[in-house]
Amino acid sequence: ESTTVVVIGAGPAGMAVATLLRHSGIDCVVLERRSRDHVAQRQRAGIVETRAVRMFDSWGLTDRVLGGVPYDGILEFRVDGRSRLVSDSDGSDGPPARLCPQQVLVQKLTATYLEDGGDLRFEAADVSLHDLTGDRPTVRYRTADGTSRTITCDFVAGCDGDHGVSRRTVPDGVLTAYAFDHGIGWLTVLADAPPPAHPLLAAGREGFAAHFPRGPRASRYYLQCPPDDDPDAWPEARVWDALRTRLGDPGLVSGPITDREIFRLRSLVHDPMRYGRLFLVGDAAHIVSPMGGKGMNLALYDADLFARAVRDSVQGDDTALHTYSARCLRRVWNDQEFSHWLTRTLHDAGDAEPFLRNLARARLDRLFTSPAAASAFAELMTGLDPTGDA
Ligand code: FAD
Repeated sequence: ESTTVVVIGAGPAGMAVATLLRHSGIDCVVLERRSRDHVAQRQRAGIVETRAVRMFDSWGLTDRVLGGVPYDGILEFRVDGRSRLVSDSDGSDGPPARLCPQQVLVQKLTATYLEDGGDLRFEAADVSLHDLTGDRPTVRYRTADGTSRTITCDFVAGCDGDHGVSRRTVPDGVLTAYAFDHGIGWLTVLADAPPPAHPLLAAGREGFAAHFPRGPRASRYYLQCPPDDDPDAWPEARVWDALRTRLGDPGLVSGPITDREIFRLRSLVHDPMRYGRLFLVGDAAHIVSPMGGKGMNLALYDADLFARAVRDSVQGDDTALHTYSARCLRRVWNDQEFSHWLTRTLHDAGDAEPFLRNLARARLDRLFTSPAAASAFAELMTGLDPTGDA
């Protein structure tokens, strides 16, 4: 069996690559380890940034792949219970960001790809990649009924996240990994509870907390905690008490908790994002700590550049394939910096030692007193900054 591109993984990166390739009339096969139901239900990110919405617009796909509602771009900061609003409005024309939960985006990309005749194989086991530095790589896997399959292709898109097989196939010493542990834990909670009026980030002596919309009747909450804390130490009553205190909202309406876990804030970049005919896309190449909401949006950026590069290559021009990694990494580092800056600012403004706490509060103040600082923040939030070539 043979195709142009084998895409490993059907998350946001893989389904964006596959949908854009299919839309360009380029053959591909998507191999996903899990079931369709599992992938369609995975809830993580919640906002498709302005740049990514306009990217889908430029492909003429917005109406088909984006669900949810337009986002007014207002973000609320609460420091010691005092509320201030910041806007990501940068005065540019064009559609704004969208409140579109990750699972809705993945479901709609999947439906679009299949409607356009795409080939998507779930429950593909033991995927392995071969001859990546040759002219025709092969990908092997086993179907759900145990049959072995081999697909020959021109390119492999490694869209299988941080724990996938693609990056692991690259020999040692080829990629440089830049890893950073923020030393911070977050308890993350999903609940069927009313969303906030605006995405809300709160700092105070009790620690950081946040409240984000995830659809019309659902919310995601974050609570700073020790990185190796035990989720069992957070029964429901403690979660809601801590949220009410840290968000400065005694009337916060609770609801059934549907998911809860603790994770360490970490960041990771692999350079380059290519090995022979394997191209790493999204979390397979980089992890951004969740503050700033950039992980899924970076995956969409990589997917756009990769699909355009393959389209050029099919027409005989490999330039964009050669510059793919450097162009992606420029945006990755810019977003890592934004995410790190926001992570430090909101955690230091709460429980850090006094000197750092005052520095962080001065940084936050500046957002509300300096139009230049507010506009730099808006540029980074929308993703419309000049880094890369959006
Ligand atoms: P993934 O979503 O990890 O998808 C990889 C796919 O590959 C999966 O379907 C997996 O099953 C499949 N796979 C893995 N191994 C194999 C294999 N061997 N063979 C075949 N298939 C395989 N980002 C934001 O932009 N904003 C946010 O607010 C935000 N919040 C987040 C909150 C949390 C709690 C977490 C954990 C992440 C958050 N992110 C956020 C990050 C975002 O979810 C990721 O950046 C995004 O999922 C990356 O997409 P991806 O397709 O690269 O990887």
